[in-house]
Amino acid sequence: MKIIYIDLDGVIADFITAIENHPLRNQAPYDIHPDTIPNIFLNLGTIPGAFDAVNTLLDDNRFEIYFLSTAPWNNTSAWTDKRIWLENLFGNKINRRLILTHRKDLLKGDVLIDDRPNNGAEHFQGKILEFASTEFPDWGSILKELEQE
Ligand SMILES: [Mg+2]
Repeated sequence: MKIIYIDLDGVIADFITAIENHPLRNQAPYDIHPDTIPNIFLNLGTIPGAFDAVNTLLDDNRFEIYFLSTAPWNNTSAWTDKRIWLENLFGNKINRRLILTHRKDLLKGDVLIDDRPNNGAEHFQGKILEFASTEFPDWGSILKELEQE
């Protein structure tokens, strides 16, 4: 079984739209650090295609899926909010499958689906599928690639 890590923000969770629409977005310190807006991670929409694609992967017994994200150190509720958000979306299927870290490069596994090189993602030892890149612009292209794994 292949171990697949999936990033949250920009891959499953639509963090950018949530900030753009948030009433506190222009207020200090949130204008500089929007990821510290209280409970911002609790009410995110989803990236197009993500919900169906991730459900498909969770149901596929060729893959063992983990969510690999970073929560802002100074936004302590974000650590809880990410878990609740994921559970609201996928239910019990994601039980014990969330990993929050600032060192994604320390995890062992086959594939990391991530939209940015940050928090160690660029040094992940397995295969990196860069979400929203020219090669993998959307979830359709990611699923197609995983089909060949
Ligand atoms: Mg991301």
